[in-house]
Amino acid sequence: MSDKSATNAANLVAKVSSNISGPCVECQLNLDGIDNWMGSVNHYLAAHNFELLHVGQETSRDDDGGLWQSTVAILGRKP
Ligand SMILES: [Zn+2]
Repeated sequence: MSDKSATNAANLVAKVSSNISGPCVECQLNLDGIDNWMGSVNHYLAAHNFELLHVGQETSRDDDGGLWQSTVAILGRKP
């Protein structure tokens, strides 16, 4: 039996956090995850044919030591 799918995983992965804005890994367009998380995720899906691999919560600490919740999406480009 041959199974090539496992070794042919998505070769480029992007992370969109509601805590961070930064450039698109593909086209360097600035993606503002803070004000437009959904739009940033959708940019990868619509403009670059990425697929959603994972959506979850991430907890970090702010400057005052308080807990800061953010939503994170992990996207991978289809081979
Ligand atoms: Zn892009």
